[in-house]
Amino acid sequence: PKADNPYADADVYVNPEWSAKAAAEPGGGRIANQPTGVWLDRIAAIAGTGTNLGLRGHLDGALRQAAGKPVVVQLVIYNLPGRDCAALASNGELKADELPKYKTDYIDPIATILADPKYSALHVVTVIEIDSLPNLVTNVTPRPTATPQCDVMKANGNYVSGVGYALAKFGAIPNVYNYIDAGHHGWLGWDDNLAPSAALFAQAARASGGTTANVHGFIANTANYGALKEPYFTVNDSVGGTSVRTSKWVDWNRYVDELSYAQAFRQEAIRAGFPSDVGMLIDTSRNGWGGTARPTGPGPSTTVDAYVNGGRTDRRIHLGNWCNQSGAGLGERPKAAPETGIDAYVWIKPPGESDGASKEIPNTEGKGFDRMCDPTYTGNPRNQNNLSGALPDAPLSGHWFSAQFQELLKNAYPAL
Ligand code: BGC
Repeated sequence: PKADNPYADADVYVNPEWSAKAAAEPGGGRIANQPTGVWLDRIAAIAGTGTNLGLRGHLDGALRQAAGKPVVVQLVIYNLPGRDCAALASNGELKADELPKYKTDYIDPIATILADPKYSALHVVTVIEIDSLPNLVTNVTPRPTATPQCDVMKANGNYVSGVGYALAKFGAIPNVYNYIDAGHHGWLGWDDNLAPSAALFAQAARASGGTTANVHGFIANTANYGALKEPYFTVNDSVGGTSVRTSKWVDWNRYVDELSYAQAFRQEAIRAGFPSDVGMLIDTSRNGWGGTARPTGPGPSTTVDAYVNGGRTDRRIHLGNWCNQSGAGLGERPKAAPETGIDAYVWIKPPGESDGASKEIPNTEGKGFDRMCDPTYTGNPRNQNNLSGALPDAPLSGHWFSAQFQELLKNAYPAL
């Protein structure tokens, strides 16, 4: 039987490869012993290379880290056909129609390793295919934010089938805990997006022969920057009788931070047919928003915009900005069962790893150049044509970005 919360009374695996990079940075020793996600972002990541640990190498390492408690290993399953259909920075190795290869060369070999009895004492958390299903809700025709690639992935069904296949395969392994990516409040927090997302996730869980029982929960804010709790305003506030939901920043969203979003999403998922004991994870790796720019109290009660902009700790130019955000800091340190309905705060995006290159960099990883990572870019419909807010001189997604790591340390909240 699976634990209700795989993080309760457990340790969490510290990835020695990330840890070494963090420790090599000035000041990085303060966080180098934190657990972070292991991204299986290509088929070759399963076997590993001469210089990078493969999946068995990580699982063996987790067994060695065990000190009398179960150890949670956090794996990011991230290799769908036509990956990252609304952006370019994390396009993957599989073409839009390569679902058969995804199953046989990616999901099946991972499932075989995870089912090895040698690893049965580990709690394996799988973060399932970030951004994929949310993109099918918001970035498809007739939305103004549609992309041709997301229309293709919706029409061919390969995101839904692939996610369903992964959930069914992993869900059948007694010590594996599937968490589906549920975007973040600045993406699915609008009424038009929330219930349709939960419904699509339930459809995916039932695709490829599975059931919603294969899903242990959902994760919010993976690799994003949404504040955990906005301390100086709530969505219910108003200024002179005008709701903050009419402000430019909130723009009719139902949520203003990730904790309230995650707790509400959980209820929505249960309404959509998921088990009543599903739990949420929140990625707090980069949503701290501390440092000198952090407001210390509410904004002025002159207009809703002045009130929200003066008081919000999320200092992004626009909520839709997602690449290497300037001013961001580390968020809450990883922690089990921090709030009602939340299984854990986790660091799934490893701090210091880039979200995407700020200019074109030729590569063999399938990664494109997304101008949302270029600080001079003035945006697209998905960030309502605002500046990208990205740091300059970033390397390819997943590659080490020292300047960002240093900024995350400096702006950590809680401070280090
Ligand atoms: C990249 C992956 C990388 C991950 C974690 C993603 O944006 O596409 O290659 O493993 O970030 O840094």
